Amino acid sequence: MRSLVERTPAEQILETPIGDRLPLKSWSRGRVTLLGDAAHPMAPALGQGANSTFEDAYELALCFSQASNIQFALATYEQRRIPRTQLIQTRSALGEMRYYATDREASEQQMQEQSQMSSEEYQDWAFNYKPSC
Ligand SMILES: Cc1cc2nc3c(=O)[nH]c(=O)nc-3n(C[C@H](O)[C@H](O)[C@H](O)COP(=O)(O)OP(=O)(O)OC[C@H]3O[C@@H](n4cnc5c(N)ncnc54)[C@H](O)[C@@H]3O)c2cc1C
Repeated sequence: MRSLVERTPAEQILETPIGDRLPLKSWSRGRVTLLGDAAHPMAPALGQGANSTFEDAYELALCFSQASNIQFALATYEQRRIPRTQLIQTRSALGEMRYYATDREASEQQMQEQSQMSSEEYQDWAFNYKPSC
């Protein structure tokens, strides 16, 4: 990777900041809703941004297929997705800070306190998720 970067002309390297945002309380207005980074931008520390985007899309489709109207579908979608992605956003933000923290143990403890889950519990929770609506 180092050699690849060194051989790439500087002007061809795109450098942009990584941005996240505090979790939103709602994603929908009228007939319009958000998913993916538009709904829950997160630091890439845990590699969960695209994963949770796929989950959003799948669950949004399920909600539309099972609800009697758009309002109910979007309300159910938000109830399903916002709590889960909030937790991932928070954990990702804390994970990103860990890269810069001088006291690694302290930041890991902070991460566990924040989410009330150990790393193992988090992995189970994140990767054994069963979408439903
Ligand atoms: C360095 C880095 C590493 C990452 N690693 C991982 C990882 O390992 N695992 C993981 O799951 N996630 C990872 N992610 C996160 C992942 O890339 C994003 O969460 C995911 O791409 C979000 O998908 P999205 O469809 O919401 O947004 P995007 O992928 O950003 O798609 C939005 C699209 O909309 C287009 N667009 C914008 N404005 C307009 C407009 N006005 N009109 C038309 N089109 C428009 C954009 O060009 C873009 O193609 C990483 C992110 C970064 C930055």
